[in-house]
Amino acid sequence: MSIHLFQISLTQLQGVGPQKAEELHALGISTVGDLIEYYPFRYEDYRVREMHEIKDGERITIQGTIASLPTMQRFGGKTRLICRVTVESMLVTAVWFNRAFLKEQLTPGREITLTGKWEQRRRQMTVADSEFPDKGGAKTGTLQPVYSVGGSLTQASIRKMINQALIQFGALIPEILPAELLEKHALLPRRSAITRIHRPENTLEGQEARRRMVYEELFLFQLKLQAYRATHMKQADGLVHPVNNEEIRQFVSRLPFELTGSQKQVINEILHDMKQPYVMNRLLQGDVGSGKTVVAAVGLYATVKAGHQGALMVPTEILAEQHTRSLGAMFEPYGIQVGLLTGSLTERKRRDLIASLQMGLLDIVVGTHALIQEDVYFRSLGLVITDEQHRFGVNQRSILRRKGMNPDVLTMTATPIPRTLAITVFGDMDVSTLRERPKGRKPIKTYSVKHNMMDRVLGFIRKEAEQGRQTFFICPLIEESEKLDVQNAIDLHMQLTHALPELAIGLLHGRMNAAEKEATMATYAAGETNVLVSTTVIEVGVDVPNATLMIVMDADRFGLSQLHQLRGRVGRGEHQSFCILIADPKSENGQERMKAMTDTDDGFEISRRDLEIRGPGEFFGTKQSGMPEFRLANLVNDFEVLEQARDDAAALTASESFWSSQSYKELRDNLNRDAKQQTEPLD
Ligand code: ADP
Ligand code: MG
Repeated sequence: MSIHLFQISLTQLQGVGPQKAEELHALGISTVGDLIEYYPFRYEDYRVREMHEIKDGERITIQGTIASLPTMQRFGGKTRLICRVTVESMLVTAVWFNRAFLKEQLTPGREITLTGKWEQRRRQMTVADSEFPDKGGAKTGTLQPVYSVGGSLTQASIRKMINQALIQFGALIPEILPAELLEKHALLPRRSAITRIHRPENTLEGQEARRRMVYEELFLFQLKLQAYRATHMKQADGLVHPVNNEEIRQFVSRLPFELTGSQKQVINEILHDMKQPYVMNRLLQGDVGSGKTVVAAVGLYATVKAGHQGALMVPTEILAEQHTRSLGAMFEPYGIQVGLLTGSLTERKRRDLIASLQMGLLDIVVGTHALIQEDVYFRSLGLVITDEQHRFGVNQRSILRRKGMNPDVLTMTATPIPRTLAITVFGDMDVSTLRERPKGRKPIKTYSVKHNMMDRVLGFIRKEAEQGRQTFFICPLIEESEKLDVQNAIDLHMQLTHALPELAIGLLHGRMNAAEKEATMATYAAGETNVLVSTTVIEVGVDVPNATLMIVMDADRFGLSQLHQLRGRVGRGEHQSFCILIADPKSENGQERMKAMTDTDDGFEISRRDLEIRGPGEFFGTKQSGMPEFRLANLVNDFEVLEQARDDAAALTASESFWSSQSYKELRDNLNRDAKQQTEPLD
């Protein structure tokens, strides 16, 4: 029987009594195992540098010979100790604050190592730390770990305790990764990795140790997810949709366009899931304009053909209406009925609609949040689709799902994130990705301009209108004030009406009622208005292929993903499209976003930048509370490792021997041990 490090109490360490143990408790460290796995977040460099390579303001270590007797000054209860030191034949001034006790030790001719902040102009160092080589100089030449500490605990004291733990119990650190994975990725054994992460000999060694532990952290996390899926997700209690491939082929062949290879592939993935007895839980991610709606349509068609009903939930009424129109047209030849359920239906219409859903007279319903109200029932809900999922909370999605008996679930998003991240964030979902855009689409040309270029912008609108194309003009966003947003839209509409008297200019904002909004959208979609001035109500989903110019006023007020969504309203047809971002060049942060927008129109790249700019926490928002916290791994920098870890974990959990063989016992035990991350299924 091996003694488990997580069962050894801290007071077993030499030099650690109840009080020190208490201080460690405050950091969440309660056993020797916890202490050993309490990793530094950076290192302080005590390696001696040469004078020619050091820069002003740097924290550095230099070595020299004391050249003068020290002088001491007192001021307001404090002391300043000053001494000259010869370093590589250069005379430098060393200054200590409140280190009066050093005075006796600073004898001319003695060697000394100084660490601190360098001031080039005065050739002076404010010394944070100094050592005498003749007394050993333990830190000199090393990288010292820096831990996150609080309270009365000091770096020196936690370093000492961790060191002690490694000396007394280091030999008990078990290997938990399978030998084949260590070999495959050339990873350090666990014991040396942990030892070196606390006490690296050099930078490279620290990096290698970190690489090993990051891999382990991500691998264990993935192993939990995969093991969860293997045991829970594939339970055979879902609907089996018998899918007739011939019928699907016919449906697809009557579409007005040929599906892209990507669309065909994800449709296959979805239909495959629908045929199986387990519950489909799939995320479909595709950049704006990649053609997700038609993929959803094929799924809906399949569920209706199998005798069930389908529901499509979207975040805005405008989008619900648009989808109802386009799906209605697609399904009309097949006698499939599509209904619309939003908050602005009259009570009577609403009651009729709910009744037909309940009786099974309606095959497909498209709607907003109104779909998840309590009195909405289905006769037999087979497929639930959520479009633009980032606009919904986890709860809202699962309420809709519970309106059926384990219906299949498809979640669509136009905020594509790297697959690995998607898998991490949406832990329990399978992920399908639309990589290509439909044939013939030209990249959207994007420009960032200043406000004083308005005349040229107007000229651009005129030019597009002359060629029969249309423009969206988005008003500035006033955070938290819909009223001001609306006022902006009204003002801008008036200005444009004056400036472009020959054009028809529409206006759309959130304070209009549903009928007004619908009429405005319909006129614009029919090509009867040249320009649509709008607030961000059209941000997601809106599809008018003849619109080729997107102008965003005060673009620096918008987030990167939001700008990309807005831009995605154009470039949806065969014509060259443009996006003009009117931004304040003085907004520093804004310029970073404008640069990302003008650099690329690839949604994956945009979300990578967004993630980089905002960091994972903000990027995913609070809705995705299942976002794991890692100790060492960083989801932005450690993408590739995460991907690798995922594949390895998937392969391992799929193998019979993982569940039975003695050699995987450590790993299986680890699944049960409550790791620091929560991996609850999100939905
Ligand atoms: P999104 O992924 O942003 O929801 P949509 O489903 O709205 O994209 O599709 C964008 C536009 O592209 C629509 O006008 C749609 O009819 C069209 N479209 C979709 N798939 C194809 C295709 N394979 N070939 C040509 N046009 C397509
Ligand atoms: Mg869409």
